Amino acid sequence: MSIPFGLTIDERLLKYHLGNTHPMNSDRIFPAYHLLKEIFIDMDPTSFSIVTPTEIEPNLLAKAHDPEYIATINEFSLDGKGSALEYGLGTSDCPVFKDMAEISEMVVSSTVTNVEKIYNDEIHYSFQLLGGLHHARRSKASGFCYYNDVNVAIHKLKQLKDDIKILYFDSDLHFGDGVYYDFENDPNVLKISFHESGHFLFPGTGFSEEVGVNEGEGMGVNHPFFPFTWDEPYMKRFDDIIPSLFESYNPDFVIWQAGVDGHALDPLGHLQLTTNTYHHMAKSIRELADKNMSTPRVLGLGGGGYNSDSVARSWASIVSGLSKTKLPLKASDEWVNTCKAQGISVSPELHDSMTTSKSFEDTAEIEKGNNLYSEQFDSIVSKYHSI
Ligand SMILES: [Zn+2]
Repeated sequence: MSIPFGLTIDERLLKYHLGNTHPMNSDRIFPAYHLLKEIFIDMDPTSFSIVTPTEIEPNLLAKAHDPEYIATINEFSLDGKGSALEYGLGTSDCPVFKDMAEISEMVVSSTVTNVEKIYNDEIHYSFQLLGGLHHARRSKASGFCYYNDVNVAIHKLKQLKDDIKILYFDSDLHFGDGVYYDFENDPNVLKISFHESGHFLFPGTGFSEEVGVNEGEGMGVNHPFFPFTWDEPYMKRFDDIIPSLFESYNPDFVIWQAGVDGHALDPLGHLQLTTNTYHHMAKSIRELADKNMSTPRVLGLGGGGYNSDSVARSWASIVSGLSKTKLPLKASDEWVNTCKAQGISVSPELHDSMTTSKSFEDTAEIEKGNNLYSEQFDSIVSKYHSI
């Protein structure tokens, strides 16, 4: 019997709700939860397996976060009240809410459970819908993230094998600063991030000059993109860079923060990507892992994405590519109606049309900006890697 593809789409994760008017609310997850369940789990229960989070050992969270910070989150979580700006808690981005500790821990345990199952060969590929809270720092909540499940997962992998070679690829709209800075010294974590340039968007960092420090020099690979970059040039850079880095680095474990807030419909940024880019990256990562890893070990994490409609089909495209499953052209009327009953409007069409240069009236400035970023990237990264 073949090994199933793992999916964490636990309904309890809908409680990661930072407020009705906050972009990180349960409406972003609800359609995706039901869509992935319908088109993967219900359609093909032998090829897909639900991964249910199990509790993590008590000291694991403290490897990525300071004990005082954890204690403050626990305290504020009891009644959903409190403010500690030195910890980034109680801001508009990271409000305090009841049960924030439990739900944030559940995100971490979901990611760690997937890591353990992949490492133990129970599954080879999986996708954790609410994982990839990549902005949280050791003692600071940031960018809608309280605990950094990626960092905890990396510590878990190092516990399992201390010299494990991890490839962390982050294609969220935003630079994966919390992961990069926590492991910027680390020679065994190759951190690659594709994101809208920090000149235009939070967190304002992630330029190609940031290559890692000390023993980790060269292990940071940051590629900013100019606002309004569309599918074609983005995919070309992916194809030019990712396969060669993957093959030369030869990772033991791949974590992909596959945030979909770079989608053209997303309200938070300016990239103009579609399901075509997400599916292309997922398919390529699957092929690279199948071809190059003696045991494929790839964990996809949902990351950002704040338009309920585009998030659902973008994640569906990613799971389709990573699992080598054909995505139907349309979702069912039942799914559309389930979302409608929650007050969420979604389109049944699961495939976007590709954005090409013809999609834009004035491409010259975008191309000029991207050429500059690409030249800087190539000149810096080629000192450390053959690309
Ligand atoms: Zn993001």
